[in-house]
Amino acid sequence: MTHPFEIAIRFENVCYKKGDLHILNQVSGVFYKGKITTIVGPSGAGKSTVLKMCNGLLSPTSGEIYIDGKNINEYLPTTLRKHVGIALQNAPLIRGTVYDNLSLPMTLQNKTLLEDEAVSILEDVGLNPKLLYRDSHDLSGGQKQKVSIARTLINKPKILLLDEITSSLDPTSTHEIEQLILKINEKYNVTMIWITHNLEQAIQIGNYTWVMMSGKLIESGESSLLHDSSNIKIQQFVDGGRY
Ligand code: ADP
Ligand code: MG
Repeated sequence: MTHPFEIAIRFENVCYKKGDLHILNQVSGVFYKGKITTIVGPSGAGKSTVLKMCNGLLSPTSGEIYIDGKNINEYLPTTLRKHVGIALQNAPLIRGTVYDNLSLPMTLQNKTLLEDEAVSILEDVGLNPKLLYRDSHDLSGGQKQKVSIARTLINKPKILLLDEITSSLDPTSTHEIEQLILKINEKYNVTMIWITHNLEQAIQIGNYTWVMMSGKLIESGESSLLHDSSNIKIQQFVDGGRY
């Protein structure tokens, strides 16, 4: 089948083995450029492992990964980290102020983040610029996640990886983060991969969905597949609701 969208990331027969354990087993699939792909599946299915492979935190034991048409091994690690941002569930922030956190990607490159830029990024993620010099530990969970997302935007990534970023948030903060991700996706045309255990979120926010089980990609396609799939395993998984 031909497809109208360009491909941001391609997995070809990707395996990840630890001893006898097949953590990823022959995963082949794509993430389309500028689109949001959600990844769902039971705990331990290999979702986070897929994400860590997309920015080089882990490498396949066999198989190939291509980012924007180029083999991931051909990227310098520093280039890859700038090209592909990642945000995690607990929004790990460093000690210090919001500004210190936003500066981190620049500090690592021996550069300085201008205050104006920091303010503009805070506005982008819907945070009050007055929070710039607030101690990061005094923020709410939702605010911390916004700072964490803002920090990933400093490097102007083309691809953003999101691992269960709303799992520990209340419904209001969850909704705000969902709207924020949709806005960033639209404004900067960033390719997003979002792991979520919230199936409604996977369908509503995702353009495409990967369903993973036991280290395998069992189905991928438009997110409506979660309702339409004839695959009995997927039906059972969806009927089980949250897991
Ligand atoms: P998910 O994000 O879908 O919950 P993960 O990708 O985190 O799953 O993990 C997939 C499986 O691989 C799990 O069973 C996990 O325990 C195992 N695993 C992940 N990393 C390692 C590792 N470094 N050593 C051994 N087992 C691992
Ligand atoms: Mg995980």
